[in-house]
Amino acid sequence: MALTLDPLYGELQDEARAVAATIEPIAFEADARSTVHPDVVDALSKSRLCTLVVPARYGGRFAVIDPLAVCVVREVLMATSSQLDSLFALQGIGSYPLTLGGSDALRERWLPKIAAGEALAALALTEPEAGSDLKSISTELAASDNMLLLRGNKAFISNAGVAAIYSVLAREGPSHSMVLVPADSPGLTVTAIPELIAPHVLGDLAFDDVMVSPGDRLGEPGRGFDLVRATLSVFRISVAGAALGVAQAALEEAARHAASRQQFGRPLARLGAVAALLADSWSELEAARLLAYRAGELAREDPARALAQSSMAKLLATETAGRIVDRAVQIMGRFGLVRGSKIERLYRQARPMRIYEGASEVLREGIARALVDEIASP
Ligand SMILES: Cc1cc2nc3c(=O)[nH]c(=O)nc-3n(C[C@H](O)[C@H](O)[C@H](O)COP(=O)(O)OP(=O)(O)OC[C@H]3O[C@@H](n4cnc5c(N)ncnc54)[C@H](O)[C@@H]3O)c2cc1C
Repeated sequence: MALTLDPLYGELQDEARAVAATIEPIAFEADARSTVHPDVVDALSKSRLCTLVVPARYGGRFAVIDPLAVCVVREVLMATSSQLDSLFALQGIGSYPLTLGGSDALRERWLPKIAAGEALAALALTEPEAGSDLKSISTELAASDNMLLLRGNKAFISNAGVAAIYSVLAREGPSHSMVLVPADSPGLTVTAIPELIAPHVLGDLAFDDVMVSPGDRLGEPGRGFDLVRATLSVFRISVAGAALGVAQAALEEAARHAASRQQFGRPLARLGAVAALLADSWSELEAARLLAYRAGELAREDPARALAQSSMAKLLATETAGRIVDRAVQIMGRFGLVRGSKIERLYRQARPMRIYEGASEVLREGIARALVDEIASP
């Protein structure tokens, strides 16, 4: 396993840095909103970044989506703006079930627009009563004449209200299926949700007997979880990337502060306890980064087989980011508590990452299961 990244990934990070730099002046404003900032969408669609999450055949950059590329780009974007990062990531997360399971005609219709950033995508799994336990969802898909009828509610859906397409998981008979629902489908309504501690473009969806064409099915009937699992195995690593971005930005803030502020006649960074906080943070960040990149390399070869590594990468990076932002605030003392400061924003933004796309406790269960399977198998 090569631990030095191919220069391609450095070039992708430079490309992402250039896009992030155009957003930097409005990042605070964009990240304080639960609605899309037009300049952020604009910057994303003018860039070529969204081509990274669509296969080349439909206007994307590479023949197949490279999880490591998405991871390293998110690391850069998130260090500047969570809204920029989220919009980029969702282009992939929301459209991947279509990439894998859509008919050629359906892919031709939507994926070039996703790659160009002209249409935004969303993935609708969570429901008011079903979060981690997705098998208990109650949204239903049923046959009706020559069409399919979708009925139910989804909750906390990123890009709700701005997405052009929703990849929706629903119960179908004894099993689960996925369908693609265009945002303008009659019977689909979006409602706002209370603002989060780290604002995010989110909403609830109601499907009130929405008619879905059989051509808008994603994957085989009853195989919805195959698509969910495949999406997670490719994109979970990218959450690790975003967490690395938050942690890196927080560590830089703390290190700059600790180098410049003097107490007891020397810089804070020369006080042993503060030096230890900085050293632990940097060491843990580097370890989390190595694991994330390694998981990205494994997932590039075979995303499904890398699911345990992707989960470990997400678990380690998000838990590490939580510790690093907390230590950074501690190092900065009262200056770390100022509302509207960069460190305050990072402190809030690190928190949801340990809950979405697999809460840490749920990931630990899956990782432990994979370990036992590996040890127990001959
Ligand atoms: C910013 C943000 C964006 C989101 N975007 C989307 C989106 O685009 N699409 C979408 O479908 N959903 C989205 N969600 C929802 C997200 O996927 C859920 O919040 C997540 O799956 C957890 O579900 P829950 O919040 O209902 O928590 P619950 O499932 O109620 O779990 C609560 C807590 O219980 C513990 N727990 C749960 N199960 C287990 C277990 N098996 N073992 C041990 N402990 C357990 C964990 O500590 C967990 O944090 C988003 C959420 C957030 C915060």
